[in-house]
Amino acid sequence: MKIGIIGAGQLGRMLALAGYPLGLQFVFLDPSADAPGAALGSMVKGDFANTTALHSLAARVDVVTFDVENVPVEALGEIAALKPFWPPVTALGVSQDRLLEKQLFRSMGIATAEFAAVDSLEDLRSAARRIGLPGVLKTRRLGYDGRGQFYLRSTKDLAVAWKALGAVPLIYEAFVEFSREVSIIGARGARGEMVFYPLSANVHSEGILRHSIAPFRNPPLQSQAEKHLRKILRHFDYRGVLAIEFFVRRGRLIANEMAPRVHNSGHWTIEGAVTSQFENHLRAIAGLPLGCTAPTGHCAMINFIGTMPPAAGLLRIPGVHYHSYGKTPRPNRKLGHCTVLAASPLKRDRVLERVLALPF
Ligand code: AMP
Repeated sequence: MKIGIIGAGQLGRMLALAGYPLGLQFVFLDPSADAPGAALGSMVKGDFANTTALHSLAARVDVVTFDVENVPVEALGEIAALKPFWPPVTALGVSQDRLLEKQLFRSMGIATAEFAAVDSLEDLRSAARRIGLPGVLKTRRLGYDGRGQFYLRSTKDLAVAWKALGAVPLIYEAFVEFSREVSIIGARGARGEMVFYPLSANVHSEGILRHSIAPFRNPPLQSQAEKHLRKILRHFDYRGVLAIEFFVRRGRLIANEMAPRVHNSGHWTIEGAVTSQFENHLRAIAGLPLGCTAPTGHCAMINFIGTMPPAAGLLRIPGVHYHSYGKTPRPNRKLGHCTVLAASPLKRDRVLERVLALPF
């Protein structure tokens, strides 16, 4: 079976790496001929909005999926009418707009931070009055890894934030005083069956995921998260992997955002779970049975952002698995990651400390 992937980034690359043992083949659509996935399949070179390129991808494969979220859904509707297309375009459309996403969470009884749509400085002033400060002003669309966000501490920041971001539709959110951030990843298959991975505890800085610890064992939070994810998966009649990121405040989950794709906080599943998130995504979209999500040990996943530590230093540490995406270094760019797999949380934490002490 041939899988078409819109986007040949690291997620597409890791999907292909997981798919070859299943006998799957891959065709990528990407504007860049040397994107991380390019070495693992054939390429259709073109922009994600280019309908000719999208059609040419669809014509060459049996099922189409994506590794990027910023693809115009109008163009994808056409493709989805021609070829099986998973996850559903409707889920992608909602995830592209922070306002729609939060409205969906609320409509399903999933708690979120207080929020308001902001289309003018006056809207921002009234949102800050109603919701309070501190808060975060975000672009509704095209924001990722902390891009398009402005933290507001006092009323003096309102005009500055508006000037910085105000050219596009925005959302103002209350700042959540969280004790930690967690995410859940699950998959829904062709017959509506669902599997869930254990929670991952995530550490961000400047809006970018730095490292994750998994499994993060907390049975009450795990069951809340699974309940929420199950609802969203059913709502979209979903196929594939979906992730939801939450803040934890006083033992309760507050949903921040969802990603209708494999997720950075699930990279640990490559070595640390019986079936990785990448394999389960492929199984789901290919109509194969889903695989066991049980962890095989205690993991930490560390992102390499902007610079890659040399492989040799890391590979000398037992239990460390090294992944380089083959990208040219650039500030704030995710270039690779490593996963620590250990027999106990204590051993994992010791190795994690060693890795975090390396210069990268
Ligand atoms: P996002 O792009 O919404 O995933 O935000 C990236 C990161 O910024 C989150 O993982 C949090 O660490 C932080 N953040 C975003 N929104 C808020 C908020 N409303 N309150 C507190 N921290 C936030």
